[in-house]
Amino acid sequence: MPIGGGLTTRGPRNLLRQIREAMAGAAPAQVRLDQVVKIIAQSMVAEVCSIYLRRGSGDLELFATEGLNRDAVHNTRLKIGEGLVGEVARMAQPISLSDAPSHPSFSYRPETGEDPYHAFLGAPLLRGGRAIGVLVVQNRAERRYDPDEVEDIQTIAMVLAETVANGELLALEELRDVEVAPHRPERHKGQRFAEGLAFGHVVLHEAPLAPEKLLADNTQVEEIRLREALIALKAGIDSMLDGSHGSMAGASYEVLETYRMFADDRGWNRSLEEAVRGGLTAEAAVDRVRNEHRARFAQARDPYIKERLHDFEDLANRLLRVLAGDNPGHRDLPDDAILVARNLGPADLLEYPRNKLKGLLIEEGSAASHAAIVARALQIPCVGRLLGLRDRLSEGDLVIVDGETGEAHLRPRPDMLESVQSRMAVRDQRQAEFARLRDVAAVTADGTRISLLTNAGLAVDLENLNETGAEGIGLFRTEFQFMVSEQLPRLDTQTALYKLVLDAAGDRPVTFRTLDIGGDKVLPYLETEREENPALGRRAIRLGLDRPALLRLQLRALLAAGANRELRVMFPMIATVDEFRAARELVDIECEWARRRGRPLPALLRVGAMIECPSLLWHLDALLPLTDFVSVGSNDLFQYMYAADRTNPLVSDRYDPLSPPALRALQTIQRVCAETGTPVSVCGELAGRPLEAFALLTLGFTRLSAPAGGVGPVKRMILSADLTAAKRGMTNLLGSSAGSIRNEIESLARKLNVAI
Ligand code: PEP
Ligand code: MG
Repeated sequence: MPIGGGLTTRGPRNLLRQIREAMAGAAPAQVRLDQVVKIIAQSMVAEVCSIYLRRGSGDLELFATEGLNRDAVHNTRLKIGEGLVGEVARMAQPISLSDAPSHPSFSYRPETGEDPYHAFLGAPLLRGGRAIGVLVVQNRAERRYDPDEVEDIQTIAMVLAETVANGELLALEELRDVEVAPHRPERHKGQRFAEGLAFGHVVLHEAPLAPEKLLADNTQVEEIRLREALIALKAGIDSMLDGSHGSMAGASYEVLETYRMFADDRGWNRSLEEAVRGGLTAEAAVDRVRNEHRARFAQARDPYIKERLHDFEDLANRLLRVLAGDNPGHRDLPDDAILVARNLGPADLLEYPRNKLKGLLIEEGSAASHAAIVARALQIPCVGRLLGLRDRLSEGDLVIVDGETGEAHLRPRPDMLESVQSRMAVRDQRQAEFARLRDVAAVTADGTRISLLTNAGLAVDLENLNETGAEGIGLFRTEFQFMVSEQLPRLDTQTALYKLVLDAAGDRPVTFRTLDIGGDKVLPYLETEREENPALGRRAIRLGLDRPALLRLQLRALLAAGANRELRVMFPMIATVDEFRAARELVDIECEWARRRGRPLPALLRVGAMIECPSLLWHLDALLPLTDFVSVGSNDLFQYMYAADRTNPLVSDRYDPLSPPALRALQTIQRVCAETGTPVSVCGELAGRPLEAFALLTLGFTRLSAPAGGVGPVKRMILSADLTAAKRGMTNLLGSSAGSIRNEIESLARKLNVAI
């Protein structure tokens, strides 16, 4: 037998075809597998060819061999990391050695009879970035496999991985324990982003497309397809970057810049070309290189490097879409879709049909991000911070979203599903209890009347207004309409929505918050500057004042919608009194504009400011006389007080709002408002959580605006609370030197039998 030298015919195409034919035969699975190793050994001019597959236990089992002792088949087992084969699986990378026995990882297995073989080349069988097996060739002579051979064995390994996973190679009973894709139940602990329970089938946001055809009929054609797709990919990114599709703000721009850099990455381009030259279709080449990257990056601890993996992944997905000529926006969703995303913006979420979306699982994100806020507004149970989740599930898997415990259950056992279904029934009962409270006035046990309002932003939220029995809308986030539009909503479209909201609310008050764009809320069609720090950048009112035409258009729509009735408007992110004055002046200008044209004005117009920037705390005496009311946006107020980006999971949960500094700040606002007779509400997420809302009541707040899901639980708390006693307890706690007084507040509430 000649000493190695690569495939007898250049490129593994012929070999891959032979493997396909062998597999398609009618012989029993083991016979076909034996044939496959024989064909590979012959083609690679190797004396040994073996296939190891990973059992559910995690061990690698010798499934077939040409050249080693046949008795070892199904007997020899190696742990991940054990021996060279285990090492290939652990590293998910090929290993090529001229003298394997002298390598420290070599693990001698007498039953295999591999003593005489020196040269070793092993490649992982990769699926979803995990090694599901190892393909090995060995030669007697001490020789180095050349790079083409290493390339070839990886291509063969890819085809094998695919066929094993498809069940083409082995009978199902053989395959049963082999972990070709995670198939066992798993439980993952994350963080609660939106309350509630749901189960359904996984839909991957930006689903990685699996190539339908692995082997090329014509390599040259595939080379051209790949080249053209790469050009189109780069041109697409360029055109987004240079703004011809509307420019991006901050984070999106950076992501695209990184993509552009990676799209030019020589290593990536070369790997793709080589894979195609080896006989794969362009799609299969992208998939293979993606798998290799995934496997390699999965080893990395450094979050920056892991982040780069995602960039490559997204890039590969984009490339696959270019190849498929696919439009990702139009996908068929199951009726019980559980969306799984690495991360997604609020606009992404709003693109999915609400009626089909039952739950949401996010690998990253933070509870204070706007995507999480949208999930809560839509009452879609959501668990976030589930690192590595996407690698543990496949599109279509059954999953449970437990927004109560902050867990995700993948492929749950029937009993688990049953238990969740019964909890859902209990939850429904509790909801029914809240529904019974719907028409009960929110009065504390000792007689303080509380105004309990709800937050909204979309037309669908209007249903919640009736269902929850909220007394009105304390915060209408007008930017949501802009985020779901393809283009800037026109005057009449804006007016129509505001009218609809006011009509639906009837006598109940509605407070419209003017556009709060920037930070994590990006409008792709709005030209904005790129900013290093979007959260500290030209957000909200800052943008409105810089682009008065935009803000004036919105004010015009609001005034028109509010004609002859009460209209309440407030401005977000006010940091100075001058900003408020300037914004209010625009309201006056618009009123004058309407008056001159004889248009009816609101019967009562109230203009307020959101307190979200800490600077205002020391200028309330100047601000409050200018306003008709204020509302505390605690999400932003604490983000800025603690200098912790609310969208950055590394810092967003580091500080507890139930802490003396945060509560004292709130107390100051409440006191000064009370002294000056300025109506004040709290409309951050805080107001929707019973314990936090309890703390707000003890500080003297009597007006809360909560997300729809929080109205019932907060009302129940209000009805049970004796504020006189609670306020005394809180005064003591506020003097605490502890960083967080959450436990103490909880004990206080429990002692007073408050339903938190
Ligand atoms: C807030 O900041 O608390 C708030 C209500 O506004 P948003 O969450 O929309 O920024
Ligand atoms: Mg805010």
